[in-house]
Amino acid sequence: MSGQGWGRRAWEVCQSCWEGLWDFVFPPRCWLCQQYTGTDWGLCEACQKQLRDLSDRACWRCGRTVGPYADLTRGCDRCRTEHYPFRSVKRLGRYEGVLRDAVLQIKHAAYEGLAVALGRFLGYLLTHTEVPFDVIVPVPLHWWRQWRRGYNQAEALAEGIGEITGKRVLSKVLLRIRPTSSQTWQSPTERQPNIKGAFRAQFRGHSVPRSVLLVDDVMTTGSTLTEAARTLRNAGVREIHVAILARTE
Ligand SMILES: [Zn+2]
Ligand SMILES: [Zn+2]
Repeated sequence: MSGQGWGRRAWEVCQSCWEGLWDFVFPPRCWLCQQYTGTDWGLCEACQKQLRDLSDRACWRCGRTVGPYADLTRGCDRCRTEHYPFRSVKRLGRYEGVLRDAVLQIKHAAYEGLAVALGRFLGYLLTHTEVPFDVIVPVPLHWWRQWRRGYNQAEALAEGIGEITGKRVLSKVLLRIRPTSSQTWQSPTERQPNIKGAFRAQFRGHSVPRSVLLVDDVMTTGSTLTEAARTLRNAGVREIHVAILARTE
């Protein structure tokens, strides 16, 4: 072995010793239950199982929870006659229990690590589906809200998905140009005009991807994701798939 080879080998041994020592002093903890976890995922086996158990049967087209015998060939009975600018919705589970707690936690910048860990988990689920996408685009926050929150949780989720799927995250191509008031207290009819024209797509320096995975934390009526997807479609993206942590219905 050359001198350079020995040097590199010594550095690798030294680095793995250091990482082992670091894990010994600060063992990685699960973001959800704070127990020690043997994995780099940020979630222990028990919490991963709890999350997997939440993924009950859902409509592939709108992400809503459906009964075990629902015919989903062309979507569920709630969405069959609807026209969406996105092709499919993949979700982790219904907005309840541990998933609801997690969605509320990742609204705070201190839980960015949890958002990335949940993104990795979602990415892992996506690798077991047929959903095709070239790049990942998180739903943006208006700069003012992002500044106040300290980060965009959808972007952290997208980073986690990117780590597992190996797909690039484009976090600057979709912008929220107008602040929108919190939508949760509004009726579905009030939500539409509030979000209309709230986004702008700009693929400066990037070629327009053929298919996009659009990522957000939670989907309520779907008006935000619909408007974001429509904006990307108008910019030339042919196919959009949605990935979310939780669906309220
Ligand atoms: Zn755990
Ligand atoms: Zn449906």
